[in-house]
Amino acid sequence: MYFRQIQDPATASLCYLLADRASGEAVAIDPLPSHALLLLAILQEQALTLRHLLRTHVHPGRQYESPLLGLPGLVVGQGEAALCAPADRHFVDGDEVGFGTEAVRILATPGHTPGCVSYLWRDRLFCGDVMEINGCGQPVDETDPGAMYDSVTGHIFTLPDETLLFPAHDYRGRTVSTVAEERRMNTSFSGLSREAFVTDMRNRARD
Ligand SMILES: [Zn+2]
Repeated sequence: MYFRQIQDPATASLCYLLADRASGEAVAIDPLPSHALLLLAILQEQALTLRHLLRTHVHPGRQYESPLLGLPGLVVGQGEAALCAPADRHFVDGDEVGFGTEAVRILATPGHTPGCVSYLWRDRLFCGDVMEINGCGQPVDETDPGAMYDSVTGHIFTLPDETLLFPAHDYRGRTVSTVAEERRMNTSFSGLSREAFVTDMRNRARD
């Protein structure tokens, strides 16, 4: 296996490159246009072929054009309700994406946007913006706080304790957490009822 986290300090955004060494097939999760040149250089250096570009979610009005989209044979995938950017595949919960002998499983984790999905690969989960390390991010127009609470507490915090959690952003320089740590210590969710969480998010949206 090959795994690399790529940071863009200007936007505090994180993207991920996963690959099966034997076949040379690779998957990129949440690459922004600003990650593209470095990603292309790594693909060339490591002799990898990018087979899938997977988005945890998309936002209306954002720029998703990228030199990566011109790679031959590339398949772009995102959640079934993620409709504001073009894609080749729209996933539902339980779908899988294969690359070489590896596979990524799709978990529907709506809330930050209706079409948010997370990607589970081996012992690690790429959760996009449905949660952050010790946080849950600022709500946007499409955010449904109740769905967000259900996704995090019902689909992410129920994964095995040692599952590594990789978010799409971190503004404080942290790069990874675990399900056990977030379940116990994430102050946005831990010890909060669904109702209290929803009230808290609505108040933050008004700030
Ligand atoms: Zn987002």
